[in-house]
Amino acid sequence: MLKLQTYDNKVLENKSEEVKNIDKDLENLVNEMFKIMYENNGIGLAAVQVGVLKRLFVMDVPKQGRYVMINPVIKDFSKDKSIYEEGCLSVPGILAEVERPAEVTVEYTDLKGKRKTLKASGVLATCIQHENDHLDGVLFIDRIDPVEKLTKMREYRSMLQV
Ligand SMILES: [Zn+2]
Repeated sequence: MLKLQTYDNKVLENKSEEVKNIDKDLENLVNEMFKIMYENNGIGLAAVQVGVLKRLFVMDVPKQGRYVMINPVIKDFSKDKSIYEEGCLSVPGILAEVERPAEVTVEYTDLKGKRKTLKASGVLATCIQHENDHLDGVLFIDRIDPVEKLTKMREYRSMLQV
């Protein structure tokens, strides 16, 4: 049974490793990840968030589509930025505005083993960057002002104690 890993668990700080084989086990992992993501009303989930250090994430962004991205590489970032209020299933209850490039071009392998390229904008572009950060052990709260991060973390810890 896979379990959602939350902040303060060191596993989230690890760099995930390339996926070598797309097999039945990986398919099962993807299905389980979608299940956990939907149960928690998320729009994206990286494998490391369920404790599996593989370069892979799933997303279901309203109006923009459902994706499985294996070994993703962001090839291009726009100069234009956009700000969205982000949350993360691994930091439940915390929201923060994060500025990121407004558009990205990502290369990834799908569940059928096909290498694809996608140019994304809007929430999808933000989601791709947020999830891709997880694969390198980076959380959205690492992308905000350090003082604001401290405030958010204090808020998070006080919620945990209730
Ligand atoms: Zn996240």
